[in-house]
Amino acid sequence: MPGYGALAHPWWVPVLYLLVLGHLTNICVTLYLHRSATHGGVKFRPLVEHVMRFWLWLTTGMVTREWVAVHRKHHAFSDREGDPHSPLVEGFWWIVLGGVFFYRRATRDAELLDKYGKGCPDDWVERNVYTRLTFFGVVGMALLDMYLFGVVLGLLVWTGMIIWMPMLGNVINGIGHALGYRNFDTKDESRNIYPFGFWVVGEELHNNHHADPRSANFRARVWEFDIGWVYIKLLSLFKLADVIYARTIGAQEFAAKYYRDIVVDSVSGSLDRASAELQRRKVVAAATFERVWRDARNELDHVRGRLERARADVHEELEQARMRLDAARDQARAVLERARADAYDEFEQAWALLEHARDQARAAIERAKDKVGETVGEAAARIQPAKSAGAGA
Ligand SMILES: [Zn+2]
Ligand SMILES: [Zn+2]
Repeated sequence: MPGYGALAHPWWVPVLYLLVLGHLTNICVTLYLHRSATHGGVKFRPLVEHVMRFWLWLTTGMVTREWVAVHRKHHAFSDREGDPHSPLVEGFWWIVLGGVFFYRRATRDAELLDKYGKGCPDDWVERNVYTRLTFFGVVGMALLDMYLFGVVLGLLVWTGMIIWMPMLGNVINGIGHALGYRNFDTKDESRNIYPFGFWVVGEELHNNHHADPRSANFRARVWEFDIGWVYIKLLSLFKLADVIYARTIGAQEFAAKYYRDIVVDSVSGSLDRASAELQRRKVVAAATFERVWRDARNELDHVRGRLERARADVHEELEQARMRLDAARDQARAVLERARADAYDEFEQAWALLEHARDQARAAIERAKDKVGETVGEAAARIQPAKSAGAGA
């Protein structure tokens, strides 16, 4: 064990220390957090995985589940609304210089962690140390650095290491989505910063990664280099890692396949989904039509029934009115009949009275005639003797 401040000299020792430790941190981020925990392209032996988790706790204080969730969401929404750290959405310098704040903001979103953080370590040490005592690791590291380099230099080295990880993330998330070249015409704006993935352990080949996120190998062209993939091959050589999936074909061939399989698949998938949706809507429309038609028919039947009843009612009313009319007519006819009979009787009586009066008048005339005859006879009788006497005289 070196004594207090033993590594402070010569000057290149702390520099080398920072570079080596920073590189180790980058290895743990890309190999464990990114290629293994997030995308599952490679699986490490438990011991290797634990070492990497421990190292990340010591040097970054990042929680696996948080990093994984934020990064998975980044893939799900690359450069669109919902991307936790897109220079296109948030602005280039915001992400390059302050990306860690966007990362922190995203890790406070419990729903995001729940939805995208599945399958991450959940053992005792994860729960009770790495998640609960997040910053104890980096504090321990600060103490170690102060011991090795003295307080001032130690804090300087430690600060360099602490900002190492955010730098890595910001560079990839900012520059890797804004500057560089593209091998694959992915839907997002991802770019390969430069073809030699050494400084951030292969993460420079960010467009290659977005084209085929599950691949543990980020390299796509002969002249590209991914040191992360070299480390994975070394570890698997010693049976410390299992490659689950790594792209084996070249960029051009893969691009052709990417378009044939993924794009064509996604187009045909969209078509399938659209036709399924159409089918569903057709079924819904048919059901709706059926229901509307049934309702209309019921309504029609109902109206028809009401009409039928109304017609029957009118018919009955009409019938009753006619009956009442008939009865009134019969009544009127009977009254008329009676009136006529009465008039006839009256006439008969009057006629009889008239005849009676005529007969009486006739009899009176007869009697008067007889009286006149009698009177005339008497007068003649009286006149006759006188005449005879005159003649005698
Ligand atoms: Zn990205
Ligand atoms: Zn990724």
